[in-house]
This record gives sequence, C-alpha cells and structure tokens, in this order.
Amino acid sequence: MSPTAPPSVRDPSSGPNHGAPPAPGGGAPLLALRSVRAGYGGIDVCFGVDLTVPAGSVVALLGPNGAGKTTTLRVAAGLLPPSAGEVRLCGRRVNGAAPEDLARAGLCLIPEGRGVFPNLTVRENLRMMTYSGRSLADIEAVTFERFPRLRDRRRQVAGTLSGGEQQMLAMARGLATDPALLLLDELSMGLAPIIVEELYGIVAGIAREGMAILVVEQFARTVLGVADWAAIMVHGRIKHAGTPAELGDELSAAYLGGSST
Ligand code: ATP
Repeated sequence: MSPTAPPSVRDPSSGPNHGAPPAPGGGAPLLALRSVRAGYGGIDVCFGVDLTVPAGSVVALLGPNGAGKTTTLRVAAGLLPPSAGEVRLCGRRVNGAAPEDLARAGLCLIPEGRGVFPNLTVRENLRMMTYSGRSLADIEAVTFERFPRLRDRRRQVAGTLSGGEQQMLAMARGLATDPALLLLDELSMGLAPIIVEELYGIVAGIAREGMAILVVEQFARTVLGVADWAAIMVHGRIKHAGTPAELGDELSAAYLGGSST
C-alpha cells in the first residue's frame, strides 16, 4: 500500500455501535463526510453534506430522485472527488484516494443497477472474486449460506436471474472481499416489496455480524426497519437526520410520497 493509501478499516478501534447516532463520542467512525460539496462539470449538486457511519451501524440515506444520494456515495467510494470538504475513513482524511485503495482498505460499493456480469454464470461471477485471495469454495460456502437461492442457480447465466437474485449475486460479490464498510445504492430498485424485505433481512443479518452499512434508498420504509440512523437528503443537502422513529413524520412528507411501503 502506498504511503498515501487510506488506513485499513477491517479492525476498527471502535466496536459495534448499534443504535448510536452517527456522531459518537468514542472512537473514530468508519466513514465521515464533512461539509462535502461535489458535482459534475464544475457544477455542484451536493452542498455541504455531513454524514457519519459508526462501526457496526446501518445508516440510511434517503431522499427523492436527483437529491444527490448516489453522488454522495460516489464521493465516499473515491469515484468522484469532492470539490470541497473532506472524506474520512477511520478518522484519516482520504480525499483523492483511489477507489482501489479504498476498496483494499475495506470499503465496498454495490452500485445501482447491480453490477454483475450478465453473460457469466453465478459461479463464474463468484470466481472472479477469488482475486481477493479467497478460494472459490470458501466464497461459495459463505455466499450460499447467506443466499441459499444462489446455490440452486450457480450454473445459471446471471443475466437470466430474477432482479432479486441478481441483487443477491451483486451483494455476494461485494461481500466476497470481506469489507468492513458496505455502501449499497438502491437495493430495492425495480424489485417487488416482498423481495426487498427479504434482501433487507439479509442486510440486517450482515449488520449483526458487525459490518457497517450505508444504504441509499428512495423506497424508505423497509430500510428503516433495519437502520440505526437515517438522513433525508433534498436538493443536495441533508434536511433531517435522526433515528428511524424520529424521522417517521418527515418521511410521510410529500417529497417522499405517502405511498412508500
Ligand atoms: P436517484 O434516486 O434518482 O438515483 P440521487 O439522489 O441518487 O437520485 P444523484 O444521482 O446523485 O441523485 O444526482 C444528483 C444530481 O446530479 C441530479 O441532478 C443528476 O442529474 C446529476 N448528475 C448525476 N450524475 C451526473 C453525471 N454523471 N453528470 C452530470 N450530472 C449528473
């Protein structure tokens, strides 16, 4: 790792912190964005975002279309440099760090749209993750325990899986790198509510193992069932933050629509 590479977050000094707000008084949070501005072609779409993900917590970033949620995740993952503010991983400033270095340090982004190789089988998709040093047998064992449905589908071409199964495969590929911090973008996109619930049940299980998770969603209600903390972003700014219970009323407000299930 280069001298400027980010710190590893695989063994964070702070322990699991479920239920704590993302401004813990103890050890450094896994991820902290401070007054982050970011955008495209010199035009900012995020205007001073503050967001913290403590170790062992699930934080939900919610908001309507175009609010800047994905942009925020891209900044956190090193895919987009902030135009101002700072990104801290385990207390160390990582502005400008390459996405590969952040990934090596324990950060994993599952992008919107799933990120699987549609022409490869489930097994081949998993085999690609052996670059991380784990054997295929090990990756498959963990994957099939978490996602039993993928066991039956292991010889199937990924592009022919259902949307939910593709999302499971995308998560399995990300989890194969054994990340400390998982960034999930719109897990629920295009999926039936019952599948979304199943996926969030799996997310809750992963969080119980101690992984920190930042999840972006428009589809608010299900994620709130597993989140310790949530923030609502509108027009590039965090408008409200609190526990899911505290944000209930805000989520009923018109900009998220009253129909979120
Ligand atoms: P959604 O829920 O629809 O994915 P979002 O909250 O994730 O929305 P972003 O994708 O972060 O929002 O987009 C924020 C703003 O930045 C939008 O106005 C969008 O059009 C713009 N934007 C996003 N990506 C680009 C890009 N590559 N080039 C230019 N503008 C972009």
